Amino acid sequence: MIAHNEIVKTKVLIIGAGPSGSMAAYRLASRGFKDLILVDRSEFPRVKPCAGGISPSSHRFLEKMGLDHLLSGLQPGAVMRRMRFIGPRGQSIVMSTNLKAMTINRTIFDTALLDIARERGVIFVPRFMARELIRDDRGRIVGATDGDRRIEAAVTILATGGHNKNFREKYLTDTRPLRLIYSRIGWWKGFDLEDGTMEMVFDRDMLPHYGWVFPEGNGVVNIGVCLYEDRLKGRNVSDVFDMFLRKYYARRLAGATQIGNSMSYVINTSGRVRHVYANGMLCAGEAGRMCNPATAEGISYAMESGVLAADAVMLAFERGSGSAPDEKSLAYYETMCRKAFNLRLGRAALFSRAIVSPLFNLMISLSTTKFCRRIINRRFGDG
Ligand SMILES: Cc1cc2nc3c(=O)[nH]c(=O)nc-3n(C[C@H](O)[C@H](O)[C@H](O)COP(=O)(O)OP(=O)(O)OC[C@H]3O[C@@H](n4cnc5c(N)ncnc54)[C@H](O)[C@@H]3O)c2cc1C
Repeated sequence: MIAHNEIVKTKVLIIGAGPSGSMAAYRLASRGFKDLILVDRSEFPRVKPCAGGISPSSHRFLEKMGLDHLLSGLQPGAVMRRMRFIGPRGQSIVMSTNLKAMTINRTIFDTALLDIARERGVIFVPRFMARELIRDDRGRIVGATDGDRRIEAAVTILATGGHNKNFREKYLTDTRPLRLIYSRIGWWKGFDLEDGTMEMVFDRDMLPHYGWVFPEGNGVVNIGVCLYEDRLKGRNVSDVFDMFLRKYYARRLAGATQIGNSMSYVINTSGRVRHVYANGMLCAGEAGRMCNPATAEGISYAMESGVLAADAVMLAFERGSGSAPDEKSLAYYETMCRKAFNLRLGRAALFSRAIVSPLFNLMISLSTTKFCRRIINRRFGDG
């Protein structure tokens, strides 16, 4: 769509068509703002290493956007009504929950989000790998290049997810130490899992994080582990994953068949939103470290921050002069994200600390009480 060596100009460039980028594009287009281009390095549908847990926060957000019909139309998917917790001392408890939570494979979910943006007229350019961002002589980011083609833009929304080392080092102003969660995930068919149940295993080795089994529908489950880098203790994440599978699931995996290969990925989290706007560029979703540090739930943060980015951009062009956006309105994006997420991120960070204390074991032991169920449900159901 963009020819070899071509230079294209647009008002808004969105890099990355995950939940944050596609929602930003959808929001802009559905509010009548059409001068934008959405790019992704991949052709869609594409695989995204993710458990695909659509949390109650994601449900609520989609409802608020009038998009809840999207979920019921996606197949296959699995509703999760029960959580089995396996605690650090091997305690196993099953909690029924009325929470709205489900799993949808991200290949399906992300394509559906991209499709609603395309239906609103968004121009999508696949196989555009943004290698460098373009700066003007004031140091403002004014687009991106894949080394051959250039897209020049008045505003750039960076929605490239957690894997953005190159951009982080060169262009982002958030210099806080990273709090990356390392993860590995695989898919199996024929794994014995009770209908509507998800499992979370809090092995001592991974605390404050965990391993999981999520149903995906049609007899498929995804199984994964996630843990902070310092918990790896010199091992790589695939060693931890293999240990986890052997320790907890050897018997049940014997009757199952793996689909494809397992994949490792990092998750970029923080306990507070900082520096998500600078120099004409808004960072949305995991590119801005907006992901729950306790549960690694990031889909709702991504979609919501995408919409906030779109709103800030629209305001900036309304208040700006000619094709130049108003700087203050763009910078206000950071305030909006802080208001939307800081409380949730902070509570999650606190919960992460509590989970490594004896309090968590006590809580699991007391899980028959309404109070403790509520806390566990909230943390793990709510993002
Ligand atoms: C193993 C695992 C399990 C998870 N489980 C859950 C879960 O159950 N529930 C949940 O809510 N969250 C989960 N998460 C977190 C969730 O996947 C992310 O937080 C979420 O996808 C972030 O969305 P995003 O739009 O910011 O980025 P992404 O979804 O990562 O999308 C980024 C997009 O940008 C593209 N891109 C990247 N770099 C470039 C570039 N240079 N040029 C062009 N395109 C580029 C990529 O191809 C991709 O399409 C999990 C994460 C992992 C790794």
